[in-house]
Amino acid sequence: PLPFHELCARIHGRIAVFLDAEDVSDRVKSVQEQTRVSLNVIDQALEQYSLPELSLAYNGGKDCLVLLILYLCALHDRGLTRTDNPSSNIDTAVQCVYIQDAHPFAEVEAFVAQSIKTYSLALLEYAKPMKAAFADYLRDTPSVKAILVGTRRTDPHGEHLKHFDPTDSGWPKFVRVHPVIDWHYVDIWTFIRYLNIPYCTLYDLGYTSLGGTTDTQPNPALARQSSSQQVPQLDAANGAVNGTSKPKFRPAYELVDDYEERLGRDR
Ligand code: ATP
Repeated sequence: PLPFHELCARIHGRIAVFLDAEDVSDRVKSVQEQTRVSLNVIDQALEQYSLPELSLAYNGGKDCLVLLILYLCALHDRGLTRTDNPSSNIDTAVQCVYIQDAHPFAEVEAFVAQSIKTYSLALLEYAKPMKAAFADYLRDTPSVKAILVGTRRTDPHGEHLKHFDPTDSGWPKFVRVHPVIDWHYVDIWTFIRYLNIPYCTLYDLGYTSLGGTTDTQPNPALARQSSSQQVPQLDAANGAVNGTSKPKFRPAYELVDDYEERLGRDR
C-alpha cells in the first residue's frame, strides 16, 4: 500500500477535483455540497480534539467507508499526515473501533482486513454487544473522547441527531460525531462510484445494508425478474446457467429510495 501521507494526499487531490467539477448533474451537485458540509464538521472535530482523542467507528459498511475517506482528506488538509520525525508512529493516526457481529460475513471480515492495510488503520476489534464493546474500547484507549460515526438521518435512531451528540445516559461516555448525517442513500453511492473507492463485495450481490449472516439478505427490491425460460434448479447457485452467470440481484448502487435500504435486514 501507499505510505499514509501519500495516500491521504491522493484522496485529498481526488476530492478536490470532485468538488471543482462543473457541468455535473444535480445529483452530483448535491453530493458536492454534502461533501463540503461533512468536511467542515470533521474539521471542527479536528479543531476541538487532538488525534489521540479521536476515533472512528468502522465496520466495513458503505457509510463509514465514505466517512473514512473524508476523514483522510481532512487530515491531509490540516497537515496532520506529515511526520517531521520519521520515527514517529503515523500508523496510529487513524484510530478505529470495529464491533464484530455475532455471525459475521466472511466478505465483511475480509474487507475490514483489507481496509486496515490500505488505510493504515489502528483498529481494535470487539466481539460483544455494542455497549460493552464501547466500554471496553474506552478502557483500552482512554485517550479517546470523540468517535466519528457514519449514521445517516434515515437510519434507526438517526432522526434527531446533530453533528455532535454526547452518548445517551446509560452508555459509555464519549461524543458521537456525525459528519454524514444528512447524506442520502444515493449520495453515498454517487460519491463511492465517482471517486472509484473499493467497497465490500456484498454490495455487488444486492446487499444494501450489512449486518450478520443470520439477519441480512440481499435486498428484495433489487431482485431481477426471473426469466420464464430459465430452468429453476440450474438457476439456483446465483444464476450460473450454461456457464453464463446472471446474478439474481442487481448491485446495491442501483437502489434509489432511502426507505428501501433496510428491506434486506431482519431488524
Ligand atoms: P451499511 O448500512 O451499508 O451497513 P454502515 O455500516 O456504514 O453501512 P450503518 O449500518 O447504518 O452504516 O451504521 C451506521 C454507522 O454506525 C456506521 O457507519 C459506523 O460508523 C457505525 N457502526 C455500526 N455498526 C458498527 C459496528 N459493528 N462496529 C463499528 N461501527 C459500527
